[in-house]
Amino acid sequence: MWRQKSKKMPVLKGYKMSEYVIETPKGKWEVIVGLEIHCQIISQSKIFSGASTEFGDDPNVNVSFVDAGMPGMLPTLNEHCVFQAVKTGLGLQAKINKYSEFSRKNYFYADMPTDYQITQFRYPIVGEGKVKIDLSDGSEKDIRIERMHIEQDAGKSIHDLSPTKSYIDLNRAGIGLMEIVTKPDFRAPEEAGAFLRKLRSILRYLKTCDGNMDEGSMRCDVNVSVRPFGTDELRTRCEMKNVNSVKFVMQAIENEAKRQIEQYENGLTVEQETRQFDPSTGQTKVMRKKEFAHDYRYFPEPDLPPLILSDEFIEKVRQDMVELPDAKKKRFIETLGLTAYDAMVICENQETADFFEKAAQGHDAKKVANWMMGDFFAMLNKKKCDIQNSPVSAENLGALVELISKDVISGKIAKDVFEIMSETGENPEKIVEEKGLKQVTDTSEIEKIIDQVIA
Ligand code: MN
Repeated sequence: MWRQKSKKMPVLKGYKMSEYVIETPKGKWEVIVGLEIHCQIISQSKIFSGASTEFGDDPNVNVSFVDAGMPGMLPTLNEHCVFQAVKTGLGLQAKINKYSEFSRKNYFYADMPTDYQITQFRYPIVGEGKVKIDLSDGSEKDIRIERMHIEQDAGKSIHDLSPTKSYIDLNRAGIGLMEIVTKPDFRAPEEAGAFLRKLRSILRYLKTCDGNMDEGSMRCDVNVSVRPFGTDELRTRCEMKNVNSVKFVMQAIENEAKRQIEQYENGLTVEQETRQFDPSTGQTKVMRKKEFAHDYRYFPEPDLPPLILSDEFIEKVRQDMVELPDAKKKRFIETLGLTAYDAMVICENQETADFFEKAAQGHDAKKVANWMMGDFFAMLNKKKCDIQNSPVSAENLGALVELISKDVISGKIAKDVFEIMSETGENPEKIVEEKGLKQVTDTSEIEKIIDQVIA
């Protein structure tokens, strides 16, 4: 029944994102998606208390009186969390708001003892920005960021330890979060996937969030609506809360879009509601009818003054910025001659980019990239090994490429040498010497050998 163009599209080949159309026997539809991403701030202590943020400790050991919502306790803003938020804002090419303020968002969660969350509402610390995403047809697209604010995380309710009881762990309560809100700029599941990968990459470069979706340190809310293809109306959207992997986000968009289209085509409407994505079925089901902003009775947080940033503070953060993946990618393409695709893969994380730069130092960079994209990544995959623990060092990979460039060994022999390198960690010159693998290019030498053989 459902026919989509390039349904099984490979992640990075020959597919135009603008062509993502869901076609049914009754018509053509377009999907509109916006994302809200909660990112845990990397910091030693929580955003409004001195309790530790350590992941995986025993339950309820990292809980201060502030986090437990004890009467009369006062929050104190953690300067490092503000530093991290500004740094992230700069990484999102966004406007840093020198004036922002905190608000109370009132709601009841069993794992939130204060019954309100301290967040930012009217005046967020970061304003509009943008993130460039890399699409499968080799093109790029800018996704606009609407805002980013900082707030505190809630604790965790644990329902699967007992058949009759639920448990509460407040270790997470009060950990600093950055909530990044995009404009509804996505038109295909793959665009949302590309965005999350790029965002994660930027956050990891900045070291402001570890981006581990499976540990919950990056959680994605997905807003989906559909409209007849070619129109510009904005219809009612549904939100899927806390989807915890890139793959699930893409799946949730696809299936939710189909559900909404089915509603419309059957003469029904789509209601604004919060839905839950079930990874085991790939479907979404209703959680609650959507609440509106006024349901939260937001009001200015009386225990915290407005947050005012000085130019010096912002400048200090700026000094701490590193070269981000897009800039690195551009440099690798323009000065080292890498293809856009190779540069994108190599720049996705900083460790890989650093390894590449070290390996390419003084050698043929394009060849080094080829080796990394081929045998090297395959070897790491096979050994389930991080690049930091690679048995083949960057220097040795560079040296191997040098031996090929200088015709000391052939590309074919190099593969055998690489195999030995990955087992022993030894340098290629030594292996070539010991195993007598040197390629003979001196023709008189070869003629001598031929004479011997014939004799
Ligand atoms: Mn939030």
